[in-house]
Amino acid sequence: MSLDLNKIRKDFPLLSQDIYKKPLVYLDNGATTQKPQQVIDAELEMYNALNSNIHRGVHYLSNCSTDKFEEARKKIKDFIKASSDKEIVFTAGTTASVNTIAFSLGEYWIEPGDEIILSEMEHHSNIVPWQMLCERKGAKLKVIPVLDNGELDIDAYGKLLSDKTKIVSVTHVSNTLGTINPIAKITEMAHSKDAYVVIDGAQGIQHGQLNVKDIDCDFYVFSGHKIFAPTGIGVLYGKEEILNKIPPYQGGGDMIDTVTFEKTTYAELPFKFEAGTANYIGAVGLGAAIDYIVSVGIEDIAEQEKELLEYATKKLSSIDGLKIYGTSENKVSTISFLLDGIHHLDTGMILDKLGIAVRTGHHCTQPLTKRFGIDGTVRASFAFYNTKEEVDALYDGLLKVKELFG
Ligand code: PMP
Repeated sequence: MSLDLNKIRKDFPLLSQDIYKKPLVYLDNGATTQKPQQVIDAELEMYNALNSNIHRGVHYLSNCSTDKFEEARKKIKDFIKASSDKEIVFTAGTTASVNTIAFSLGEYWIEPGDEIILSEMEHHSNIVPWQMLCERKGAKLKVIPVLDNGELDIDAYGKLLSDKTKIVSVTHVSNTLGTINPIAKITEMAHSKDAYVVIDGAQGIQHGQLNVKDIDCDFYVFSGHKIFAPTGIGVLYGKEEILNKIPPYQGGGDMIDTVTFEKTTYAELPFKFEAGTANYIGAVGLGAAIDYIVSVGIEDIAEQEKELLEYATKKLSSIDGLKIYGTSENKVSTISFLLDGIHHLDTGMILDKLGIAVRTGHHCTQPLTKRFGIDGTVRASFAFYNTKEEVDALYDGLLKVKELFG
C-alpha cells in the first residue's frame, strides 16, 4: 500500500470517533464521503473572511468570492480534462444535473417517437427525469439489460440502437454493484447513430482518473458530496458546442444578458445554466476537495481501493451463506451482498450496533434489485481512507450477525 493511511485518516476528523463506545467503521462512502479538514477549512475561510455574493458586486469581498468560485471551476476543468471553463456548469448535484440535461437537451432534440436508451442498473436519478421527458414529448425509453455478473449486456445495447435513438444515458459506475461500465465504447456506439451521450458519474469521479475528451461523452455529471466535498454542489460537464445550442433550464438572475418584457437574451456559457445565486461556497469546497485528491494522487487512491476491494472480496466470500451481487472483474470498491436467510435491514442494524456503517435497501435502483429477484442488499462501499482492519471488523460483525440469527 503506497498511501500513508495514518496520516490520511488524521485529515478526516469524523473518522476518529467512537459510536456506541466502539470505533466508527465508516463503509457508506457510496452514499456520501467524509470531508478532509482542508475542505472544512476552505469553507470556514469563505464564511469567516471572504463571503459576499458573486459576479454582481464591485466591492472587494464580492470580487474575492467571485475569484474563488471561478478558480474552483478551473480546478474542475483541469481535473476532468475538459476543454474549457465554459463546459463546467455548477449545479446542486447529480440529480440537478440530469434534470437540467433532460429538460434542456430534451426541448432541443426530442420529438414524438424518438427513443432514449438507459440501462437496467441506473439510479432513480438517471431514470425518472428521462421518463418525465418521454411523457412530455411522446418519446420512448429502451433499457440495456444487466448480465448475471452485473455487467451491461453490450450486445443487447447494440441491438437497441437505431436511427430512432436520440440520447443514451448510462452510469459510469453502478452504485449498487460497483461495476465500471465501458463508457468510451458505449459513447462510440451511440455516436455512430448520432445520439447524444450522458454519463452519470456520481460513482465514477472519485475512483480514478477521468478524461472526458478521451471518453468523448457529450455530458458527464457528478455530485460534490461523493468526492469529499460539501453537499449541495455538483457539476454538469457538457461539450461547449452542445451547451451553446440547447436552451437554459431555469431562468433568473445571473443567467441573462439583457431583460425586457418583450425579450430576454441569455448570458454566455456557463452562466446561461447557472440561474440565481450559485452555491459558491460549496463550489470553493469542491475546489479544495479536488486539490486534496490531487495532492494524495488519484492513481494512488485507485490503487489503494483496488487492494482493499480484493482483500474484502476474498474475506467476505469466505463466509458461508454470503452471496455477492456484482462480480465483474471491472469494479470499484463497492460490495453488495446478502447473508442467506437474513434480511438486509437486520444485518445493517446489527452492524450499526457494532459501530459499522453500511447501507441497506434498494440503493435507489429498484429496477436493478428486481432484476436480481431481491428487494435490496447490504452495501459496503470503501473509500481510500478505509483500512484492512476495518474490513476485518466488518467480517467479524457479519459472523456475529450469523450467530445471532443462526
Ligand atoms: N447516480 C448515482 C449512480 C448515485 O449513486 C447517486 C447517489 N446515490 C445519484 C445519481 C444521485 O446523486 P445526488 O443525490 O447527489 O444528486
